[in-house]
Amino acid sequence: MGEFDLIDRFFKRPARRADLGVGDDCALLSPRPGHQLALSADMLVEGRHFLSTVDPVRLGHKSLAVNLSDLAACGAEPRAFLLSLSLPRADEAWLQGFSQGLLALADAHGCELIGGDTTQGPLNIAITVMGDVPQGQALLRSGAAAGDDIYVSGTLGDARLALEVFRGQLSLPEQVFARCRERMEQPSPRVALGMALRGVASAAADISDGLLGDLGHILRQSGVGAQLQIEACEGLLACRHDVDLPQSWQRTCTLSGGDDYELVFTAPASRRAAVQQAAMAAQVAVTCIGSVTEQPELELLDTQGQRVNTRFASFDHFAQD
Ligand code: ADP
Ligand code: MG
Repeated sequence: MGEFDLIDRFFKRPARRADLGVGDDCALLSPRPGHQLALSADMLVEGRHFLSTVDPVRLGHKSLAVNLSDLAACGAEPRAFLLSLSLPRADEAWLQGFSQGLLALADAHGCELIGGDTTQGPLNIAITVMGDVPQGQALLRSGAAAGDDIYVSGTLGDARLALEVFRGQLSLPEQVFARCRERMEQPSPRVALGMALRGVASAAADISDGLLGDLGHILRQSGVGAQLQIEACEGLLACRHDVDLPQSWQRTCTLSGGDDYELVFTAPASRRAAVQQAAMAAQVAVTCIGSVTEQPELELLDTQGQRVNTRFASFDHFAQD
């Protein structure tokens, strides 16, 4: 199978919302009147972001999910994406599974594959995603203000637990592991929540590298700090009732787990009802975990209001191990 057969067979479909899709030198997309384009790119590298043994259907899903998660964090509506693939060989069974997982998630979000590039090389999946957002309404990292509440969507830390099982650091009952593994391999981007939070949240980011790190970006870019209730954070681990985990694992996984693809966002205390309405509309739970402070520091507090002295690093590709 040659390069162009491969594209035709697995990635070429008639354009729907786009003006021109796969097959020409460029794709064409018309921005909707009164909207801004939201653009983001994410790359997945074998051995770095996924294990070589992962099911290709799940890998296809995850490759797009991590990109859609960035649109969600901005409150943008997905429109289209470009797929740049480097493949060691044209393995039909792999391409069949990968394109199936990828395009199923794309269809679920009305996000069209409109072009890309295909080359031979180490397995590497790079996606550029495009969405749109009404002019001036994008959620930014820079809008948090002292006194705002801090929220997290869904649950946190379960993907990291699965990773630790793969690394041989931890063992979990089979059923619990299966659920954690699903969180790691098939994250649900919170697109509907991001869109529902337009005009409600003051700042937002998606959690890809761990809660503390990604919240840290909001705090730095807003010039503020935060006080977090550490028990509220630990409570975000979905499997905490199903398995007896040491507290240190609960903390590591929820505070700096990574690969969660939930949203962390801030909103003025006067908008609490609106936040809950957005969560209901998007059918995802949101939990308040603390508040924004003027002092530009991130503090973790226990139930007595005492400061917990823990240092949790978030994931940084170039940090020294
Ligand atoms: P060019 O030579 O102009 O770079 P290519 O020959 O690489 O174009 O690609 C031919 C067409 O197939 C283009 O429309 C391109 O966007 C599309 N394409 C290439 N690879 C992929 C892919 N992995 N997924 C979707 N579309 C692709
Ligand atoms: Mg090309």
